Amino acid sequence: MKQTENLEFDAKHIWHPYSSVTNPPIIHQVISADGVRLTLADGRTIIDGMSSWWSAIHGYNHPRLNQAAKQQIDQMSHVMFGGLTHQPAIDLARKLIDITAQPLQKVFFTDSGSIAVEVAIKMAIQHWFAQGQTTKQRLLTVYNGYHGDTFGAMAVCDPINGMHSMFESILPKHLFAPAPTCVNDEDWQDSDIAEFRQLISENHNELAAVILEPIVQNTGGIRFYCPEYLRQVRTLCDEHDVLLILDEIATNFGRTGTLFAYEQANICPDILCLGKALTGGYMTLAATLCTDKVAQGIAADGSGILMHGPTFMANPLACRVACESIDILLESDWQQKVQTIEQQLVAELAPYKSQDLVKDIRVKGAIGVVELHNPIDGQMDWLPKFIVDQGVWIRPFRNLIYIMPPFIIESVDLTQLTVAIGNIINRLSR
Ligand SMILES: *Cc1c(COP(=O)(O)O)cnc(C)c1O
Repeated sequence: MKQTENLEFDAKHIWHPYSSVTNPPIIHQVISADGVRLTLADGRTIIDGMSSWWSAIHGYNHPRLNQAAKQQIDQMSHVMFGGLTHQPAIDLARKLIDITAQPLQKVFFTDSGSIAVEVAIKMAIQHWFAQGQTTKQRLLTVYNGYHGDTFGAMAVCDPINGMHSMFESILPKHLFAPAPTCVNDEDWQDSDIAEFRQLISENHNELAAVILEPIVQNTGGIRFYCPEYLRQVRTLCDEHDVLLILDEIATNFGRTGTLFAYEQANICPDILCLGKALTGGYMTLAATLCTDKVAQGIAADGSGILMHGPTFMANPLACRVACESIDILLESDWQQKVQTIEQQLVAELAPYKSQDLVKDIRVKGAIGVVELHNPIDGQMDWLPKFIVDQGVWIRPFRNLIYIMPPFIIESVDLTQLTVAIGNIINRLSR
């Protein structure tokens, strides 16, 4: 009874991500979560294939993350960051500087990934502005990107599938090159970057930065591309005095097989956005790192003041949990785990390639994607229930059925996820 009441109230009053309150989506109530399992209010337990959108890499209810949060609560949940600092922020900044590329030395803590992208854009524009280069205020990116839901971030999302087309007329106009298509360095073709090269060489006087998701384009299509593309972009940015912002918010902390995806290209960005898995999925926190060179540019006007400062900047509770999450990751055999997940995904998803509905199967690190020929958006009146009935939590969107499970997932549980994907494809084929 309580559960029905709850769901009715939710449907009537509460917005969920990208959904309606007048035509509400199918919603399930979660009462607890442990390891890779979510327990629903109706008593069922389902295996999480989404890591709560790339974030819960260690699974749920982790004893060490719980303990870190509890200890920090007893000390200080929050204190303003203006004029004050604290150990969790210092410890976390030190860790982030240690584990990212050496030139990245300055850390700006934000409260979400979108805001980390906003700050990155501000850093880039301020860097040139303070040096008197006041025309360098635009960005260059590629189609199929996704960088967040706030206005600055929306403006660099794919203008067509970026879910924001209705705001187009009031968004700043940035430049878009075709999305990279080359998946392996061995198949590299110079034509893949030709249009990007032309755009950067013709517009560099107006360009503050290039912004890209390295190696994996996430929400804009879960597309993978080769490291060579990133190396080429890095060189072009250097040649044309344009900064390179890499948005690792989805890929960071091991998801693609390296701690950060940019490592696969052996390059270093000027500005790096981190988020999602930063706290192991416990709370919202993100960070924007930059090099000394970028910070010195911002200081060229004599003040060096970066024009941003959210109320909950560097929230101690979130920073403390993030420190613990990074320790758990680095102390674990995460490379092996991600590789094992990768191998199992390759083996278990491959058979679906022969299905008529299926356009492509692809796997990178702990990410498995089934791309269909047609969108499944019209199936949302039954599909979410069907999926939960398989004992799993997967959230297909557009023409994609994809999973990125917690790294701790056991082989049998991963098989249950891939079998469920097969059942979804079969059901859609009827
Ligand atoms: C999720 C995501 C964001 C936005 O992060 P939020 O915390 O949802 O604001 C930005 N960039 C990428 C690549 C993401 O995956």
